[in-house]
Amino acid sequence: MRPLRFDNRFARDLPGDPVLQPGRRQVHGALYSHVQPSPVAAPRLVAWSPECAALVGWSEADVRAPRFTQVMAGNALLEGMQPIAANYGGHQFGQWAGQLGDGRAITLGEVVNDAGERWELQLKGAGPTPYSRTADGRAVLRSSVREFLCSEAMHHLGVPTTRALCLVATGEAVVRDMFYDGRPRAEPGAVVCRVAPSFIRFGNFELPASRDDRALLARLVDFTIRRDFPHLAQDGGEPDEGVRARWFAEVCERTAVMVAHWMRVGFVHGVMNTDNMSVLGLTIDYGPYGWIDDFDLDWTPNTTDAGGRRYRFGHQPQIAYWNLTRLAGALAPLFASHDPLHDALARYEHVYVDAYRANVAAKLGLAACADDDVALMHDLYALLKAAEVDMTIFFRGLADVDPDAPSLAPLAGAFYDGAKRDANAPAFDAWLARHAARVKADARDSRERRAAMQRVNPRYVLRNWLAQEAIDRAEAGDDAGIHELLDVMRRPYDDQSGRERFAAKRPDWARDRAGCSMLSCSS
Ligand code: AMP
Ligand code: MG
Repeated sequence: MRPLRFDNRFARDLPGDPVLQPGRRQVHGALYSHVQPSPVAAPRLVAWSPECAALVGWSEADVRAPRFTQVMAGNALLEGMQPIAANYGGHQFGQWAGQLGDGRAITLGEVVNDAGERWELQLKGAGPTPYSRTADGRAVLRSSVREFLCSEAMHHLGVPTTRALCLVATGEAVVRDMFYDGRPRAEPGAVVCRVAPSFIRFGNFELPASRDDRALLARLVDFTIRRDFPHLAQDGGEPDEGVRARWFAEVCERTAVMVAHWMRVGFVHGVMNTDNMSVLGLTIDYGPYGWIDDFDLDWTPNTTDAGGRRYRFGHQPQIAYWNLTRLAGALAPLFASHDPLHDALARYEHVYVDAYRANVAAKLGLAACADDDVALMHDLYALLKAAEVDMTIFFRGLADVDPDAPSLAPLAGAFYDGAKRDANAPAFDAWLARHAARVKADARDSRERRAAMQRVNPRYVLRNWLAQEAIDRAEAGDDAGIHELLDVMRRPYDDQSGRERFAAKRPDWARDRAGCSMLSCSS
């Protein structure tokens, strides 16, 4: 295996937990603990991402080396690796939850690739850490398949995200009570290797702030600016209050851009707790996430959240803002005046509105978004909901509607319910006529418009039922479904001949099936 260059700045520059023994504990005055992955019985490489391997500087030959699987299972370390678990807190479902930390994530080290880029390698499911609380530090195959595939699918869709290098089955069973209904069962275990420039979360700052540890908080802020936002650091010197303010403003901006992408592609994160929010504005911690089939701003895939639906599709922009207000509150002790924090939060709203309007224009095939176009989109949303219409199929098909003779025909395959389609057909015809008139007002070349629409309205998304199908096959010993799905998701904006079924509506069997429409946090 090609040796990698590790430069473990988080561990080197920041204070760690002096206690080296394993064991669950509260860790004060430190931003991480030294840990060791726990070996597993019979690791087997199930899947890997060629694009992600290339990022860290590995080829197929490296990935195929037996040692690769041993390392990615947590059974061996490479020269230069220095495993740690980060210490962070968070607001979960709106409540301060205290210390959380990496309970089953273990950072192996920070790779610096040939291009000078920094990529942190992190195993998820490699055994307990001081932050595991009452849980086992392991992960089941089903949730690992979901994290692996969705990380890469999101990347190829152009959504900022952490990446996934590989998925390894452990050969060991993990016991989970999937629906918290007192019926635990043994499931196959797995480890995913995640990759990102940084896994620092809002919660990393909230924890020292909650303990009034201003010095530790300031160290982490300044470290984050220097390592992860080097363009803001003045000559690598001590960031002053102005630099810290610009940094928080950039966190707000990146978060707005990320959430706007989610809304564009119909992604519902499912658990937007502040410990699951990256300061780099990356989608992180793929748990009970889901994809919109029939359009519904109120939908959440997360059964744990079914009561309040805090993390429902249409609420995500507001929740991201609320999470940023928690981060602002944590950072406030570092600021003499809170004005810059308020200004940065206002930036979130501006950037989100701009990104939202850009989505409206792009998804509808318009050169720019006029105020009336926002209403056009909202009217469409209401129709899509009322008539139970597939979001992805509808927007993809909209490019095929001829503005000179608008009709519902190219969109017929997007409807889940014939009666609702018929009842809403006149309203759709009226909407399509409005849309056609608007498109023609742009005087844009129709081929160009169609191509532009297809670049923002994907043909393929990681539909919940597709992932579940791949999981069912993998649990039965057949990994090919994962490989094929990963390959489809590498080109989500291209029509891939022979792969029509991956663009199909949710089949009836998946409507109320666990893993498709209902997911819990149990993973
Ligand atoms: P999540 O809801 O997955 O973001 O997890 C919230 C917290 O629980 C984080 O601190 C996780 O590291 C921790 N956690 C979740 N699952 C496990 C597990 N199986 N073992 C140990 N810690 C876990
Ligand atoms: Mg988490």
